[in-house]
Amino acid sequence: MDYKLRIQQLENELAEAKNRIKELESSTSRESSNTNYKALIEFNQMEKSVLDFIHCPLLILDQDLKVVFANNKYQQAFGKENEDPKGKNLFEIDNNQWEVLQSQKVLEPLISSATDSIHQEIKFEKTGTTNFLSLNAHLISLDDADKGYILLSIEDNTEKRKAELKLEDSEQKYKELVHSSNSLMAILSGPDMIIETANKSIKKVWGKGNNVEGRSLFEVLPEIKKQGMPELFRNVYKTGEPYIAKERPIKHEKNGKLILRYFDFIYQPQRNSRGEIEGVSVIANDVTQQALLNKKIRKSEREFRHLVNFMPHKIGATDPKGFATFYNKSWLDYTGKTLEEMLSEHWDMLIHPSEREEVVSQVQEMLKTGNPLELELRIKDKNGDYKWHLARTTPIIDEDGEITSWLTSSTEIQKLKEEEERKEGFLKLVSHELKTPVTSIKGYVQLLLSIMAKEKTDIENMPVKPYLNRIESQVDRLIRLISEMLDLSRIEQNEMELQLTTFDLNKQVEDIVEDLTYTNTDIQIEIEHECECKVMADRDRIGQVIINFVNNALKYSPDSNRVEIKVFREDENNVAVSVRDFGIGIDEKEQQQIFKRFYRISGNNDETYAGFGIGLYLSNEIIERHNGRIFVNSTLGEGSEFTFTLPLNQN
Ligand code: ADP
Repeated sequence: MDYKLRIQQLENELAEAKNRIKELESSTSRESSNTNYKALIEFNQMEKSVLDFIHCPLLILDQDLKVVFANNKYQQAFGKENEDPKGKNLFEIDNNQWEVLQSQKVLEPLISSATDSIHQEIKFEKTGTTNFLSLNAHLISLDDADKGYILLSIEDNTEKRKAELKLEDSEQKYKELVHSSNSLMAILSGPDMIIETANKSIKKVWGKGNNVEGRSLFEVLPEIKKQGMPELFRNVYKTGEPYIAKERPIKHEKNGKLILRYFDFIYQPQRNSRGEIEGVSVIANDVTQQALLNKKIRKSEREFRHLVNFMPHKIGATDPKGFATFYNKSWLDYTGKTLEEMLSEHWDMLIHPSEREEVVSQVQEMLKTGNPLELELRIKDKNGDYKWHLARTTPIIDEDGEITSWLTSSTEIQKLKEEEERKEGFLKLVSHELKTPVTSIKGYVQLLLSIMAKEKTDIENMPVKPYLNRIESQVDRLIRLISEMLDLSRIEQNEMELQLTTFDLNKQVEDIVEDLTYTNTDIQIEIEHECECKVMADRDRIGQVIINFVNNALKYSPDSNRVEIKVFREDENNVAVSVRDFGIGIDEKEQQQIFKRFYRISGNNDETYAGFGIGLYLSNEIIERHNGRIFVNSTLGEGSEFTFTLPLNQN
């Protein structure tokens, strides 16, 4: 303690002063045997300077407590200006400020010679504040004197003591804080992490009892050695870098069992006033429940993401303001972008320019009202093509009724849309196609009737035959159309039945060609037989397929009337019929599509090539029902070859 040092210092100074007095004594006794003690206190210049030199306020009193001497330091610290305390009573000088010594009878033991020195701290109240004086008094008894003198040093320790008290207070508060805290706290010192302080909470978690102070942490908790903790502590101790952990699992051994708990904690370097690291403090919180809950949440989030990524639908999420926060895998596959790229762009850039403005305005309305939204829109894919989607957006609402995000599910409906378009086109065509033959039949019948109405016209002179021929061909068109539509509905109702017979495919092809060339004399059909092919099949249905192939071959060859038909063995089990033309050909992209219901190649002018997009669909259905295959080879502008196969040993 500082004041002890000070007392020591003072005592040394006092001893020195005593020596001086002794020296003085012996010199005066040498000079005169009649020396008296009065002479002694008449200090000469030298002695006075010695006492003035002392760094402590100092008074010399006689035994009546009258001031014999006051050094400079005293005058500076306590003295009243223009007042010389010499000769006055101690309790009366300097505004009676030393009355406290009287009231507390501090000097009594000296005066009564019960002791020859006093070292005491005096506490007293002055103008409402507590003050402290550090007082050292020493009785100087001179051998020849009947009276002694009192050497009194007084120091005002108020500020110092206040600072000390403050420190003690804050130390106490700090201790209380540490020990009463629910957080787990410990202070460890030195490289071996000796436990200096550990509060109740941390001791409970450690489970090693109350007497852990003074021991190394690693000795108290050997189980943490294998969990990488010593390295963490030593690193903080070495580098001064704090270490912060969130929900870190740590196992503590309790009654021979390792118990896993999760902690948020900080290891902080502990520095002394010189900034040197002396240890490490630990502040931790047991967050096991929260960590387990978070684990569960993370697990279900992972599962949710997995599920969402697994879905073929495009799932996206936005914040309450409509800014994208998530896109599932299906979205990334569709756009060919990474999640980061997707999130950095605004979603409206993926929408077809024709719908963009409308969609954005509907979304803004949705964000304003909080109502779910459903709309159809075209979205750009990785090739830059726009495909129709049905998008449904719904708000996610928390327990306070606030919208926390928006979830959108977009389903591609391009095929449905196309189908819809094809259906619409088909209906338009049907009504158009029906109208033409019916109007024309009606026209010819009316013509014949009007000719017959002219009384004089005899029947031989009437152009009955060509008109009837025209009526017949239009009726054929109608019948074909009606039977195709009937077949269509049979297929849809799954009511198409096959009448299986064994017949020669070569013969059937020849018959069909004969019929066709009978009515169309200007066409040129070549047949190539490569095999004897007897098949078990529905003769009429197979005939329908061949007629459809040949009719198409003629229809889609505006500049050629040549068709080649080949009957051949595809392999030992299958026979095939192919029909080749030299017409407009089919783009590779369309070659799979044309077998779909109502599918017509859009570039082909509907007016130029009449049809409904049913023929190949029916052909495909018929061949599939025979367990055969149907396919096309074609080059745009050069012609096409349609082929179907049938199994030879069909049961
Ligand atoms: P359609 O009544 O329209 O001819 P199909 O089902 O028979 O219906 O054919 C579907 C589409 O396939 C046709 O609209 C046409 O665009 C194309 N197509 C069929 N056969 C040929 C062919 N030989 N050459 C070129 N295009 C063809």
